[in-house]
Amino acid sequence: MQRGQAKTVGFVPTMGALHLGHLSLIARSRAECGVTVCSIFVNPTQFNDPADLARYPRTPEKDQDLLEKAGCDALFSPEVSEMYPDNTISNVHLGKVATLLEGAHRPGHFEGVAQIVGKFFTIIQPERAYFGSKDYQQVLVIRSLVEQTRSTVEVVACPIIRESDGLAMSSRNALLSEREREIASLVPQLLTAAASIAPRESIKAAKKMVSEKVNEIPGMKLDYFEVCDPATLEPVTEKNGLGGAIALIAVYVGKIRLIDNRRLRDVAQ
Ligand code: AMP
Repeated sequence: MQRGQAKTVGFVPTMGALHLGHLSLIARSRAECGVTVCSIFVNPTQFNDPADLARYPRTPEKDQDLLEKAGCDALFSPEVSEMYPDNTISNVHLGKVATLLEGAHRPGHFEGVAQIVGKFFTIIQPERAYFGSKDYQQVLVIRSLVEQTRSTVEVVACPIIRESDGLAMSSRNALLSEREREIASLVPQLLTAAASIAPRESIKAAKKMVSEKVNEIPGMKLDYFEVCDPATLEPVTEKNGLGGAIALIAVYVGKIRLIDNRRLRDVAQ
């Protein structure tokens, strides 16, 4: 019926345990599209760690309530067996961007993401799809998917929504103990400090600072910290053009893996 009325369909794919970051995507879609569809699906093929999948937070009733209050028009929350009736795996070539950073540290992750998002695009047929820049690399991978599959979906990247202490909102934050939650607030501080050191001193100095600081924080372990070209995510090695670069970090706080990023130009020099 909605299609008959030629309304633009906006799509917000999520894994549930919704927070204000997700709701910001719903709000943006509602502002720009006639119909907003949200999916909640904890996609097994994008988890490279079975323990991460097993502990992933699931709050379906609360999510449904939040979506209703946010004015979302439709929720698609399929079973795993519906989305994966057979064992076929995606053979879309996602390009080099999918092999760096998260791609290198979480083998198979982006292939799983692309596989499910591709299926959702086919089923839901949105005109636009909304993604958060917290998963900055994911946005680039989805753009690559769209290009490779000649999809007409417009990929819209939305800003990172943060807690009052700067921690990027994430469903995984709910898994942190009180102490771990305190430690996690240092992640955006590290990024801000590094993004200010890199242009003033060097990327090497920024990396050294991040690695030393993380080593000093009990319970935190660095997975990676890189300063990259925002279009390709290739590491930036020269000071030239650093203004547009992006700093990306992944850390473990206890067992929980957190990611964040910040454009260098967003930090006061
Ligand atoms: P997830 O449920 O974690 O797979 O996230 C679903 C979508 O919400 C993805 O496009 C994420 O990038 C986005 N998202 C998650 N956290 C945030 C945040 N703090 N701010 C903005 N978008 C977010």
